Amino acid sequence: MNTDEFQPDPELKDTIDLPRIENAVREILLAVGEDPERPGLVETPSRVARMYAEVFSGLHRDIQKDIKVFEEKGNDEMILIGDIAFYSMCEHHLLPFHGKAHVVYIPRKGRILGLSKVARIVDTLSKKPQLQERLTSEIADTILAAVDPLSVCVVLEAEHLCMTMRGIRKPGSKTVTSAMRGGCRSDARTRAEALSLINRRRTD
Ligand SMILES: [Zn+2]
Repeated sequence: MNTDEFQPDPELKDTIDLPRIENAVREILLAVGEDPERPGLVETPSRVARMYAEVFSGLHRDIQKDIKVFEEKGNDEMILIGDIAFYSMCEHHLLPFHGKAHVVYIPRKGRILGLSKVARIVDTLSKKPQLQERLTSEIADTILAAVDPLSVCVVLEAEHLCMTMRGIRKPGSKTVTSAMRGGCRSDARTRAEALSLINRRRTD
């Protein structure tokens, strides 16, 4: 499959202005001293425009579409959804940061989220100009609003290309952020249990 063939969601047609991105990319190419008309670059502005429509599609997607709640009576044990791969764009440099998200929560009255839905939530919230800290909080708050769990703990570990391919250049360095809500925030024992569940699962 040709990955350049991404076509924006029909709903996004009016929200993502592809020709405007194309013009801007052409301007950047000119500004750095390139020739946007040379064969290798002639298709680049439209390709970049479609790519931006895809990687920023979370700006316009209704997060409610990613949420499906199940009732499973008696399920009040800690649930871990670990190693959710995500890709986002640092809002300071428009360079990718990517890594893994780990979510632990304790359901209230058996209200749980479909496993694939947690990954969808992470994906949608990642697809906009972001900060890792805010993304972490938004994931926690979305889960909190969706199923009102007794506790939720979200940990993100990511490599930021703005740190590893330029600037201070620390290849392979990871930034780790966490957001705690409910029991994970107020109770040290619940927090320790959630974090040890994540640490046992964490892969490098
Ligand atoms: Zn950055």
